[in-house]
Amino acid sequence: MEKPAEVTQSPVPSRPFPSRLVSMGEILIDFTPAGTGFDPESGNPLFSQNPGGAPANVAACFAGLGGRSSFLGAVGRDAFGSFLRRALEQTGVDCGGLAVKDEGTTLAFVNLSPSGERSFTFRRSPGADTVYCADDIPENAFTDALFFHFGSLSLTAEPARSATFSAASRAAAGGLLLSFDPNWRPALWSSASEAEKAMHAGIDAAGLVKVSEEEAMLLTGARDRITAGRMLAESTILTVMTLGAEGCLLFRPGKPEEPLPVPPFPVSAVDTTGAGDAFWGAFLFFLGETLRRTVSPDGKAPVPAENVRSLCAGQIAELPEAELRRIAVLANAAGALCTTKKGAIPALPSRRAVEQLAAGVPAL
Ligand code: ADP
Repeated sequence: MEKPAEVTQSPVPSRPFPSRLVSMGEILIDFTPAGTGFDPESGNPLFSQNPGGAPANVAACFAGLGGRSSFLGAVGRDAFGSFLRRALEQTGVDCGGLAVKDEGTTLAFVNLSPSGERSFTFRRSPGADTVYCADDIPENAFTDALFFHFGSLSLTAEPARSATFSAASRAAAGGLLLSFDPNWRPALWSSASEAEKAMHAGIDAAGLVKVSEEEAMLLTGARDRITAGRMLAESTILTVMTLGAEGCLLFRPGKPEEPLPVPPFPVSAVDTTGAGDAFWGAFLFFLGETLRRTVSPDGKAPVPAENVRSLCAGQIAELPEAELRRIAVLANAAGALCTTKKGAIPALPSRRAVEQLAAGVPAL
């Protein structure tokens, strides 16, 4: 008679602490000004074809710093779409969730003021990114991921809007930390009130929020940035306000009356495209490293995936001020470096460059 198989006690499941970032939303061509070289006498501007789209930039930044990231979104079945896929793959981002649609790839023409500030003209009628749907999201999109990041450009139209909220619910159910950047682009909304409603829904869903001063004031109705940041911090785990050449301000939930200002790195900015995405990609990357060290020092998280978010949220609230400041300094360095080159993805800095610039700050 065969011997019965030995019964062994299976160990308590313990999985590596998640670290991946899943970023969802628009991927598009940023046509950035490139002088008047073709026919200087005419004065007609030339544009350089750069890969862009805020959530794609954030994923590319995260990967470029050495992290694992994936992108969910859509390009058109055209030369611009192939160009974008190649560009994103080259940065190391997993493009398994990048769909190809019959609608054309979205195009954004960037106009720069003499001081480097941007305004946009979009070609998106409808763009491929707006027709991404929930069925395009891969089954295992959120497995072993720590962050789900999204913005408001995928909330301007259906089916991308429902797909984004469906992804956010799945990510939340899977225990991920949700991150939102309103990325207010008035030209893409039929009305400001519709935009505000969608951006509030994004903020309500997410725990980690990155805003500009203008967005914070628009969303809260506050007349100054400190009041606006405090109001947003009431419903978030952490609100980070980027201030361009002034650096950033952190608003923590337990201490909204004490915003933490983090000064910038003085650089010669040539193009601010993507600075906010470089900043936020770096912020999430270094925050992820800190959380891994504090929540799970041995690299294993002996907790079910669903509990990772609550553990991390608790840790973020408890992080010493110096550690939060360190993360923001590194993010400021990434943002500053991004402004020193043209375009977004082509201007994203390496981890070594970020750490070298940040190394000059005392107590880092
Ligand atoms: P967004 O593109 O989202 O509006 P910002 O322009 O505020 O974002 O830039 C994001 C971050 O990049 C800033 O918080 C800052 O750290 C850095 N940064 C942006 N512009 C400059 C600049 N001119 N000099 C130094 N750092 C900058």
